[in-house]
Amino acid sequence: MNTDERILLCKPRMCGREIDFIREALAGDWAVPLGPDCDAFEHELEVFVNSREQAAADWSDDSDSSDNSDDSDNSDNSDDSDKSEGAEGSEGSESSSMQPFGRRVASLISGTAAVHLALIACGVGPGDEVIVQSFTFCASSHPVSYLGATPVFVDSEPLTWNMDPGLLEEAINDRIARTGRKPKAIIPVALYGMPYRIDRIMEVADRHGIPVIEDAAEGFGSRFRGQALGTFGRFGVLSFNGNKMITTSGGGALICPDDATRRRIMWYATQARESYPYYQHEAVGYNYRMSNICACIGRGQMTVLDDHIAHHRHIQALYRELLADIDGITLHEAPGPDYDSNYWLCTVTLDPGLRIRGEERTYREVITGAVGGAAGVTHAAQSAHTDLEPNRNVEALRLHLNDAGIESRPLWKPMHRQPVYRHAPAYVNGVSESLFRTGLCLPAGPHVTDAHVSRIVAQIRSAII
Ligand SMILES: *Cc1c(COP(=O)(O)O)cnc(C)c1O
Repeated sequence: MNTDERILLCKPRMCGREIDFIREALAGDWAVPLGPDCDAFEHELEVFVNSREQAAADWSDDSDSSDNSDDSDNSDNSDDSDKSEGAEGSEGSESSSMQPFGRRVASLISGTAAVHLALIACGVGPGDEVIVQSFTFCASSHPVSYLGATPVFVDSEPLTWNMDPGLLEEAINDRIARTGRKPKAIIPVALYGMPYRIDRIMEVADRHGIPVIEDAAEGFGSRFRGQALGTFGRFGVLSFNGNKMITTSGGGALICPDDATRRRIMWYATQARESYPYYQHEAVGYNYRMSNICACIGRGQMTVLDDHIAHHRHIQALYRELLADIDGITLHEAPGPDYDSNYWLCTVTLDPGLRIRGEERTYREVITGAVGGAAGVTHAAQSAHTDLEPNRNVEALRLHLNDAGIESRPLWKPMHRQPVYRHAPAYVNGVSESLFRTGLCLPAGPHVTDAHVSRIVAQIRSAII
């Protein structure tokens, strides 16, 4: 093992097939933002998301899932499964596990673009409100602002770390009482791949008649009761950015309820052109379609998607085993067999009382880089502190691992504590703030080996006083 090699949080890995698809596309002059590889990639995504799978095997010996007691009914095929009946064709019916969800997929330039177009399709406009999980990456909420609408942030519940259904209900009722209008959409987020409590979220959303846009950008391959995330709500967002479960270098997709909706999304993604021999526009459109060359990368990646998911789960299992006897560090795990996480990133929380070497040197100087490989395109920080930051032991562990050539990262800072959203309404319970103070993401992904995990855990051990 080369111990000089830096272990990164989540780095893309090519399988070799990507270049074959690209070569073929270039030979056919298909270097355009549409084409046969986009079509094929979308079809492969449809087969994947429309399929049903058994729950994760590692729960078979542990049926004690305490959180399921309140799930009165199995709200299996969500409300809008009926809408899928009109979906044309049953491509993919060759797969016996194919269920008649009939979801259609539109490939786009990014997951952010997918959120944006889903909001437009839900009729979101200036002055509207959209409920967004606060504990998320900014791409869930920024498109709400693009549209002149206001995000209303809802905090998480402690088991999945995702949107708290009870707080969601409270937020909806309070918004209606205060504004006289219903929020236009609800965006739960599968943070770090963990499924949200979608049965209860759909129940609340349906009761109020509000569409759900599932942000499954980090949860591609995760399932709830065997059904792929992104297929429960009206829309589902996927991301193929460089650090996600699979990559197209940059890209995303929108899972749509039926073919007519997909066509409308594609119309918006293609500058909203009317059918005339010249350019005629009755609406404002966007240039959001995925390049056929990016789709080639995606097609190559689809051949290893199952391997990637299995590998992320394997790395999670290794952390589980190796971290088990370390007091004060808790691995974030699925709360029950219904929640089949892809474990996109493995995350831990640190007891505030855990002492880590070097805590006294934390937050001494202004950071010059930035998270997420964005160094050089970020603003320079004004100070070493903000009004909400990870505890000193978390930052000390991050620095310790960094010195050992291991990249780690604090959990995502809740949107309701971001200065840019200081005026946005928020319904909070302290969960996401507490997680942000105590949590750390550890390396996962196709480049992380068993030896790496041993090395990471050994470094964690040596950092503890
Ligand atoms: C990555 C991500 C997105 C979309 O990201 P793109 O980089 O635009 O593809 C959306 N939501 C969450 C939670 C994400 O992590």
